[in-house]
Order: sequence, then structure tokens, then C-alpha cells
Amino acid sequence: MIEKQRKILHVDMDAFYASVEILDQPKLQKYPVIVGGNPNSRGVVCAANYIAREYGVHSAMPLSRAKNICPKAFFLPVRMSRYKELSMVIQKIFSSYSSLVQPLSLDEAWLDVTENKYNILSATWLAESIKSDIKIATGLNCSIGVSYNKFLAKIASDYNKPNGIYVIPPSQAIKFLSVLDLRKLPGIGKVTEQQLLRLNLKTVGDIQKLSREELYLKLGRLGKSLYEKSRGIDKSEVKLSKKSKSISVESTFSVNTSNINDLKLVLKKLVLRLYQRTHQKGIYGKTINIKIKFYDFEQVTRSFSLEFKSLSQGHLLNVYTDKLTTIIKCEFPNKKVRLMGIGISNLLSTKSVNKNLLDYFKDRQ
Ligand SMILES: [Mg+2]
Repeated sequence: MIEKQRKILHVDMDAFYASVEILDQPKLQKYPVIVGGNPNSRGVVCAANYIAREYGVHSAMPLSRAKNICPKAFFLPVRMSRYKELSMVIQKIFSSYSSLVQPLSLDEAWLDVTENKYNILSATWLAESIKSDIKIATGLNCSIGVSYNKFLAKIASDYNKPNGIYVIPPSQAIKFLSVLDLRKLPGIGKVTEQQLLRLNLKTVGDIQKLSREELYLKLGRLGKSLYEKSRGIDKSEVKLSKKSKSISVESTFSVNTSNINDLKLVLKKLVLRLYQRTHQKGIYGKTINIKIKFYDFEQVTRSFSLEFKSLSQGHLLNVYTDKLTTIIKCEFPNKKVRLMGIGISNLLSTKSVNKNLLDYFKDRQ
């Protein structure tokens, strides 16, 4: 069977948390910036900009050590809600290109652009376009790796960092990999690197010289994986982010209706059911969704972002009623409805909501 050559992008924001801080406080631009909190605390570095990295500061380093080697750095607290906000803007850009997006973290994702929403054949063109969209929408830089599988795309995004695009075409993969240090491969940490060095295996090229059997005998399962990686083989697919987390309820009418009061009555019951299902579990969604299916099976769905204050059942009902009224009265006047569904997505637990609420009020003060 001939498999279609895939086109995979790996997008990685450059020094994301630190870059966001500099975006919000441009005067920090020329200085080393370290995100993680008070350097006298026992915390670790969450992110460092490239100036700080020149001093040897890196993620996961104790803040006290970072302070020692880079005393002039600005040490800033982590503002997760702000990073999430920008991450959502970035994710939206991703989904405007492909429906196959797999986020790895707030600032990293794989995109399968073999089929894409612009029907563009050149993955490099798409990478350039995504990069410029992100820059325009957020002011932030990213690096993008372009290749024919996830493994190579991830290596490629790291290769031309920061603010670069790097392409590994199929014909170049073996050669490109051969000179790489094994440490550069995702998943090979210090300990494994030492283990490999003891066997005189330093570069991917050293692995390429060995057969599958030799590698398996020397290294077991790691050997099998290295055999494939060293030859640029990775069949894993770009998976949609864990079954789009949402909770929803719906109701099919026994008699189709366009009467707004009847619809509101059903909506009220749905909100109660939704509230019971989410409230009991301590779950809260930042996005609400409403779905209407009409008698002729035409369907509309709408999503809206919620403010933090929308925690109560009454408030939830008000928001849904507003949206329902707009859809029924303005967008599809007098069209009979056969099914209505509501849901929440972008889920958070109430624990984190309370924290967000605190941040929210802090910002308001
Ligand atoms: Mg990053």
C-alpha cells in the first residue's frame, strides 16, 4: 500500500512565558527576564528569555541558582491566566489552518496540514503564514518545524530557534539526523545519554550504523525505538486534544416549535440539568455552547466565552436565554425547532476558578 506523504508542522512559541511578560512590559526587552517568582524562594525557573539563557539560565533551574549566575535579571511571578489567554488566540489561529491540531502545552502544538483549510500544497508556505498570523495577533515570535512526521517536525522547530522555520524534507532526513547528537532527540535525557555514551553511541549516525537486532540486543525497547527514530520513521498521528472536553445536555421536542416561551421553558430545564451535572463535580466551563436543530435538520451551534461572574445557575440561564433569543428571533425567525442542546467546554475545576476569581478581582482593584 502506498501511503500518502504527510505534512506535519510543529509550532513552538519562543520563550513563551518570558516573551509574554516582555510583551506586556516592553521596557524589559533589553534585560534578562526570568519567570518563576521571587529568587529568594525555593521555586524554579519556569521560563527565561534568550538574554538570560546566555548566562546559562534554563528552565527548571532553582531560582536561587539563577540569581547567582544572573543577578541583574528581572524575576517575575508566573501569570498563568495571561499565558492561557494568549494561548487561546494562538490555538484559534492553528484551527483556522487545520482541524487536526494536537496541543502539547500552552505554547506548543503539532498540526497535520496534509489536508488544510486553504488547500495549499506547500507546508512551508503554511508555516510562514501561521508564523505571521501569530505575530500580528499577539506580537509574539514562534519557531516552526516542517516535516513528514511528528518526530522530525519537533526536531526541526528546535533547530532554527528562535524565530525560525526549518524544513526537513524526506530526501534529507537521514543525512540531517546523522550528525545530530542523540541528546537532541526528544525523550533522550541526561541519564539515557550517559547510558548511550558508555556504548560509544554519541550521534544519531552511530545508531544508523547498527541493525535493528543489534540495537535491540544492546538496548531493548529503547533500541527498537532508536532504530526507527534514527531512520526518520515515526508513524504516530496528530491526535485531536483529548476528546474535546465538554459537558452537554440536550432535549428533543415531541412537537416541533418556534414559540420562544416554549423554548425558554425547555431551556430552563436544560440549564438545571447542566448545572447539576457540572456543579456536583465542581466543574466550571469558560465557554458555553448552544445547539439548535431545526425541523429540517439544519443545525446551528454557537459558542460564547463566559465572564467569571457567571457561576450561578440564574446567571447561566440568563446568558443562554439571550443567545437562544438571538438565534430564534433574529437569525431564524419562525423556524421550528426539533432539538435543543446546551453545554460548557474549556473546563476548569472550581478550585482553579476560585484562584482565577482572586486574580480577576486583584486586577480590578
Ligand atoms: Mg516554547
